[in-house]
Amino acid sequence: MTGVVTDPGDGSVGGLGEWQPAPRVRGFGPSVFSEMTGLAQRTGAINLGQGFPDTDGPDALLKFATDAIGSGRNQYPPAPGLPELRAGVADHRARHGFGPRYRPEDGEVVITTGATEAIAAAVLAYCDRGDRLLAFDPCYDSYAAVARLAGAELAAVPLAVDGDGFALDVDALRTAAASARARVLLLNTPHNPTGKVFTRSELDAIASVCRESGLVVVTDEVYEHLVYDGRVHETIAGLPGMRERTVVISSAGKTFSVTGWKVGWACGPAQLITPLLSAKQFLTFGSGTPLQDAVARVLASGADCDAWIHGLRSSLQQRRDLLRAGLERAGLRTFRAEGGYFVQADVRSWGYEDDVTFCRDLPGRAGVVAVPSSAFYQGRDAPRWLARFAFCKREEVLRKAVAGLEAAGGGRGGN
Ligand code: PMP
Ligand code: GLN
Repeated sequence: MTGVVTDPGDGSVGGLGEWQPAPRVRGFGPSVFSEMTGLAQRTGAINLGQGFPDTDGPDALLKFATDAIGSGRNQYPPAPGLPELRAGVADHRARHGFGPRYRPEDGEVVITTGATEAIAAAVLAYCDRGDRLLAFDPCYDSYAAVARLAGAELAAVPLAVDGDGFALDVDALRTAAASARARVLLLNTPHNPTGKVFTRSELDAIASVCRESGLVVVTDEVYEHLVYDGRVHETIAGLPGMRERTVVISSAGKTFSVTGWKVGWACGPAQLITPLLSAKQFLTFGSGTPLQDAVARVLASGADCDAWIHGLRSSLQQRRDLLRAGLERAGLRTFRAEGGYFVQADVRSWGYEDDVTFCRDLPGRAGVVAVPSSAFYQGRDAPRWLARFAFCKREEVLRKAVAGLEAAGGGRGGN
């Protein structure tokens, strides 16, 4: 037989010696989420690290998916996504008052493999080597990584701690946007990890900087439905002069508690969506036909779909209250979580100086896993004393976590 290699055992087969991968991926270890989920699995601690719900999405959605698989919807979708899903996304956004109406028939909506792929395709399509991608600091971990894959540079504009929240610094944004290399602002509201929901007046200020400096805005709104205490989600795409320069990204993962499905989308003017699709078609081409079919059907169910989302939002708000109050009782100062899945706590309340040590100790001390928020920060002067806890878990799980935290906080002499 030809082609069979027998290893002579001298290291000449099976190893690449000094070989190195391309610099663009060097230093990309497993993400902080994989690391923290691994820690929870090894220690048996409660995983309040990685943001995924521990309950399923709507029964109807799950059934739509199995029906689609059973009825042969198992071949490639069109690269831009199933037409019925693209139309469903546009209708759903319009029904919820999420910014301008998009026309899928004119190439304004594309379905992606989660929001992650939409973000990556946008950055690859809009940023060249040496360009600057602006983002608020802290930011979701994939932003800096895709900037690097594109050869671009992430310019981080601090969101400073302000009481129990995080404040926009418009002047700092304006200064960063003034660089001739600045091309894109990658915005995120509701924001991960801070839980900040940008207000209309903050978005007005950001929009005016973007218009003045000619920036394109990519806005990651995966938590658009998950805003609390009567807040209303606003998208920058709906502000005057912004439709033509903005791509809005969202995903079924958060809205329907199916983070593993990775069905996302991007909406914007064809001038921005066409190049995004050009990049996307060579990343994945298309994905998950039966899952796209199922999401299209659930969106088309209108009132049922909206009732489910409404229930999720109010239950998450209660679970946020439960976790935040528990963290406070455990002696940890917490921050407002206006939207999304997470609440942050100040680890200095327990005498820690850095979040990594706190998170490393936490499984042993409290039986809980959290994420060190320094993983989301780019700036040198960024706080290293925040830990992020996910509240998208069942109430009994959160109660158990809180009991562990309170016991540990008491032991440490917390408040
Ligand atoms: N953006 C933000 C802010 C997120 O928190 C996440 C992960 N939940 C994503 C994007 C990725 O979304 P998806 O799982 O749809 O790729
Ligand atoms: N978005 C999730 C979080 O912030 C994690 C997603 C992932 O693991 N890539 O926890």
